Amino acid sequence: MSTIFDKILDGEILCHKVYEDDHVLAFLDIGPIADGHTLVIPKERKAQLDQLSDEAAAAIGRVLPRICRAVLAATGASAYNVLQNNGGMAHQVVKHVHFHVIPKTAIGGLGINWPAGQLDGERAKELTEAMSAHLAPNG
Ligand code: 5GP
Repeated sequence: MSTIFDKILDGEILCHKVYEDDHVLAFLDIGPIADGHTLVIPKERKAQLDQLSDEAAAAIGRVLPRICRAVLAATGASAYNVLQNNGGMAHQVVKHVHFHVIPKTAIGGLGINWPAGQLDGERAKELTEAMSAHLAPNG
């Protein structure tokens, strides 16, 4: 399904471009929650991070720290969050993978609710076994 970011990638909608290479585009968020709020997207058109190819993921990973440094340099912020939402329940509105780079200052940035629990030993064993099985070379 086409998203607003497809239109940006296709040049049908303008954006304030921060960075572009063969695999990645970064641009200013149209509704910033802090000065300098930037979006980093793969050119590969996938809704969620778990659907992204290794190649597209590597391309994002290669450039993301550099873009973070540029956001900090341009805004003067020293703290920031990288937010990556997947699925409507997780606050994803645009169904094209994107990383938010959001400066955090005394006056703005991301508010976080972090309801920490206590890791249960039995559950930890179940989870690590299940995840390891999926991460095995032929999983
Ligand atoms: P999500 O909630 O899906 O993680 O975030 C989507 C982000 O895309 C929002 O922060 C929203 O402001 C931004 N956004 C939506 N439409 C546009 C647009 O047309 N241009 C730009 N630059 N950002 C957009």
